[in-house]
Amino acid sequence: MERVNNIFGRVFDNMNENLLNKENGDYEKDGLIYCGICKTSKQQVKNIAGVDTLVPTNCDCREKEVKEREEKLREYQRIMRFKGLRDSAFDDNLLLSQTFDKDDGSLEHRKLGLNYVENFRDMEKENIGLILTGSVGTGKTFLAAAIANALIDKEISVKMTNFSVILNDMMNLEIKKNKYIENLNKFNLLIIDDFGMETDTSFATEHIFNIIDSRYRANKPLIITTNLSIETLTNASTLKEKRIYSRILEMAIPVIFTGKDRRLIKTREKAKKLNKLIEGGDKNCEMMR
Ligand SMILES: [Zn+2]
Repeated sequence: MERVNNIFGRVFDNMNENLLNKENGDYEKDGLIYCGICKTSKQQVKNIAGVDTLVPTNCDCREKEVKEREEKLREYQRIMRFKGLRDSAFDDNLLLSQTFDKDDGSLEHRKLGLNYVENFRDMEKENIGLILTGSVGTGKTFLAAAIANALIDKEISVKMTNFSVILNDMMNLEIKKNKYIENLNKFNLLIIDDFGMETDTSFATEHIFNIIDSRYRANKPLIITTNLSIETLTNASTLKEKRIYSRILEMAIPVIFTGKDRRLIKTREKAKKLNKLIEGGDKNCEMMR
């Protein structure tokens, strides 16, 4: 025990030796060194292995400095994590700007999207995904991207891609396919944009099934956007399609985009403009008269 004490004692002696910083006006009081700036102690007495030992400690200003440095480091790490999440999320960087904030008020199922983000941890637990279905230009991709961006803001990892990119990657013989799928499954949420079966080769169907099935087995949520109707998804014409569609339907809840809201709002906007022209008496209107 004596030897241990000696070792500790010597270690702290060395540390204590350099503690007194005359430039800062450090001083000694009651056997302890005090910081000349904040006037708090730079040492304390601790009982180590039964012996009272003088141990260096942070004075208040040093402690503040350490805390600030730690805070800065955490902030830097947070920014880097956030940057990493954004960089890896999209194949198409334009999607980074499709956020709930940018919605002009015409986005269908906005509330549902916000709720999905809000309750994502539960969605994850229950493995609940979404099938955003409807015709072109109804805002499905926008909603999916807005969900992705909002989750990234909460530091949740998302991958939004599509099967033409995936299949293109898969055709690269240097890519290890299992590893590739494994990587996709590392993301908390996978979004497959513009899902369809137009690439109807057995190579494609096999890989599409593998990716969706492995997502299912990993018990992780999936969102797809698709022009295929729910009727098409529930009444697959071939066995291969049936395998894929039924997996998707098991994992995700259909959300139908009608495009009605968007059109309605556009029509209302037009009506407003017309009213302004007719009744507002602005210059265009005067000219028309
Ligand atoms: Zn100090």
